[in-house]
Amino acid sequence: MHVHTSDSPDADIPARSLVQKGIGNNLGGIGFVAHLDLDPEDYCYGGFNAEEYDESIASARRESDGRISVMKGLEIGEPHLYEKQAKELVDYSHYDFITGALHSVEGIGMILGKEVFDDGDPMEIVKEYYSETLRVVEVSDIDILAHMGLFRRGLALAGLRYDFNEMQLWPETIDNILKVLIERDIALELNTSGLRRAEKITYPIPAILQRFSELGGTLVTLGSDTHREPHVFFGLKQGSALLLKTGFREAYAFVDREPQAFGLA
Ligand SMILES: [Zn+2]
Ligand SMILES: [Zn+2]
Repeated sequence: MHVHTSDSPDADIPARSLVQKGIGNNLGGIGFVAHLDLDPEDYCYGGFNAEEYDESIASARRESDGRISVMKGLEIGEPHLYEKQAKELVDYSHYDFITGALHSVEGIGMILGKEVFDDGDPMEIVKEYYSETLRVVEVSDIDILAHMGLFRRGLALAGLRYDFNEMQLWPETIDNILKVLIERDIALELNTSGLRRAEKITYPIPAILQRFSELGGTLVTLGSDTHREPHVFFGLKQGSALLLKTGFREAYAFVDREPQAFGLA
């Protein structure tokens, strides 16, 4: 439920080719996303074209010919700040799902690169990241919270420690985020892209996934955050195994913004 197509400036595989690859990998469906970033500091700012993305998804659906389900999603950066602008540009009802992503911390900067961590107190930045994630899930019109814990990418690039357990550091904030997800029926994404990076861990970390389950959370999605070769669908098997190990028997896809369960194997 997190596959980028060549419609995003930082990705380069056409949606229809990804459909072929998905069929080759025996996937039941692919949730495509395009970046819609409205922060001028963001690399993908100004890179979204709704008409081109529509055409791209239509072509993917023709390619699929019913063999794999094709879902059209959007990944909105910082939806708690830019939702109004996003909704002026796109009609959310034309999408199967809306994913909310936090790529930068307000007043600090992008957390997926090393720069902010070179300059500031790393753990203060991580603390702020979680406070801001709480604001994202409290107010945004989203179906899925993307890659919670993405700051590990920046920490690893900066050569800093990332082997801490934030559940122990800020249990109240993390619990609040997870409770709001459950109350508002927002799915928690298990993003496997960290497994192919230096940090070799999922976003969120397994301890947070475990806590989500303990609190009664059931809505989980699985996403590889594919952007290009050689990482297409990377980590989905490991992610699926982690979900099963944590006690989830099903994960979810979204069609017309409604969650659809599928069995994990
Ligand atoms: Zn993202
Ligand atoms: Zn993404």
